[in-house]
Amino acid sequence: MGALDRTARSILLQDFRNGFWLTLKYMFTKKVTLNYPYEKGPLSPRFRGEHALRRYPNGEERCIACKLCEAICPALAITIEAEPRDDGSRRTTRYDIDMTKCIYCGFCQEACPVDAIVEGPNYEFATETREELFYDKEKLLANGDRWEREIAANLAADAPYR
Ligand code: SF4
Repeated sequence: MGALDRTARSILLQDFRNGFWLTLKYMFTKKVTLNYPYEKGPLSPRFRGEHALRRYPNGEERCIACKLCEAICPALAITIEAEPRDDGSRRTTRYDIDMTKCIYCGFCQEACPVDAIVEGPNYEFATETREELFYDKEKLLANGDRWEREIAANLAADAPYR
């Protein structure tokens, strides 16, 4: 840009008028800002949020303590201990996830043969202390009970692509 052009733009307040025009234009366009938390944007069925352990419709926990999720977790965030029950079935006695280590890769969900551990749609689980992010089995099962409907719908929506 030549010196003459720059002088002309300066005298005519061209930059100021461009900025003012942009402001005016956006005053009359449709607003895209959401009124969070009362309005939320759409979420993909593959969204990886807070973890949950699911149950079967009869209330029995799905997890069979195969430990595949523990083995595949690249962050070593999962700790499982298991013992056989009196009826011969094997279930976990301890299922912990250290959410401060988790990188939300979704490998645990992919590895699970019975769709027990899943990363649900909840992303609003901020805490005030680190300790609250050390999830145990009770917490994970409670998450599963709370989010089962949404999780089942997401898994069904994603099923044709798996
Ligand atoms: S959550 Fe799934 S992958 Fe992990 S131990 Fe249980 S059954 Fe195995």
